[in-house]
Amino acid sequence: MQVDPASSCHFSLLSLGDELVQGKKTDTNSPWLARELVELGLEPEELCTLDDGVSHICAALLRLAVAADVVLITGGLGPTLDDVTRESVAAAAGVGLAEDAGALAWLTGRFQEMGRDMAPSNLRQVLFPEGARVLPNEKGTAPGFHMTIGDTEVFALPGPPREMKPMFRNSVAPILESLGKSLGLLPRARFYLHSTSESVFAEQVHRAGEWMARDANPLVAVTASHGVLSVQLTARDRTKASTQKLEQRARDFRALFGDFIYSEAESRPAFALGANLIAAGLKVTMAESCTGGGIAAALTDVPGISAVFERSYVTYSNAAKHSELGVPESLLETHGAVSQEVVEAMALGAAERAGADLALSVSGIAGPGGGTDTKPVGLVWFGVYAAHRGEVSVSSVSHRFPNADRTQVRTWAVRTGLMLLLQTARDLAKK
Ligand code: AMP
Ligand code: MG
Repeated sequence: MQVDPASSCHFSLLSLGDELVQGKKTDTNSPWLARELVELGLEPEELCTLDDGVSHICAALLRLAVAADVVLITGGLGPTLDDVTRESVAAAAGVGLAEDAGALAWLTGRFQEMGRDMAPSNLRQVLFPEGARVLPNEKGTAPGFHMTIGDTEVFALPGPPREMKPMFRNSVAPILESLGKSLGLLPRARFYLHSTSESVFAEQVHRAGEWMARDANPLVAVTASHGVLSVQLTARDRTKASTQKLEQRARDFRALFGDFIYSEAESRPAFALGANLIAAGLKVTMAESCTGGGIAAALTDVPGISAVFERSYVTYSNAAKHSELGVPESLLETHGAVSQEVVEAMALGAAERAGADLALSVSGIAGPGGGTDTKPVGLVWFGVYAAHRGEVSVSSVSHRFPNADRTQVRTWAVRTGLMLLLQTARDLAKK
């Protein structure tokens, strides 16, 4: 048998539901989970979709449990009799079902909170295969569970994506990380980079040596998505020599790309920014024109952001830029709303009014109309205000997002704004 040293821990996914195999609903859980698990360093083995039949599911589980180290099941945890995940897993594991007292108390409380009577059928949702560990569901009434079948780690998650995703991130991923060593996960380092394209990146890496070679140790994998470059360095094996090579390569990587790396843990720019701001205690505000509050909305996705974010300004018209932010009318008349002078005045005005350490302003031409030869559609100006120990700086930068429609210009402007804030927050933290 040929052993690929980079494939030490395999996973299989099992999506359950009559609606999926009948083509009435598309399986979006498996692709999402596959991406998350590959990010964690696991190798995909099989993605399987089945109807809600105990015998099919049980047979598939017995097969997958032999081939895979980790099996994730989604769907079939609802209260109705056609949801049979718990029975199927119990049958495959050769155990019975037992009621979990903690889950029962939680579910009863949840129904009380919702002001609804609990139907007897809901009691099925607190039955779990014996020996299973219950995984809490923050968004719904069906807890998930985790157990082993033989040597295989089996996780059962609810079908609705809005319940499944937080359960994966909050419960399953931490368990897998903690099992990393026993699962044989390979040592890795991850970097998230902004403002650099895949080709520029490849060029620079090439100059540094043969880092990208298929047989390099560590192996380098690069993916670009939404203006973010994710780079993963994976050791070929768990030996001390490979681990040391990985550590050295990670140091070289930081030396080469330090200016572009915005996080080694968090891929989402708004979340990386939120973590930086909260850790440094930097109060932030925004003055947004063409993004209409999109940057503030992205930042308020971050739990706990209220520690550093109090208010923000959406000033779309010239009149609002003047009355809300104190941008001089003469500046607006002379230079126009989409200009270096105006975004700098917007950032300053917002920072002063919000009492912030850091402010970002944005004003641009999102189109489709409104462009001129000197100010074409896709031109966006950003202003950055930063205060540190009484020292204030206001700077600005313009970007052109060519051949982009209104939605794309606005989306890029939000991302660029978040990245500018990230860079500034990191610079301030270094001072
Ligand atoms: P269930 O947990 O089987 O009761 O599933 C509840 C609902 O979640 C289904 O009706 C679907 O709308 C959704 N769902 C279940 N499985 C998937 C899946 N693999 N991908 C996307 N949505 C799903
Ligand atoms: Mg179902």
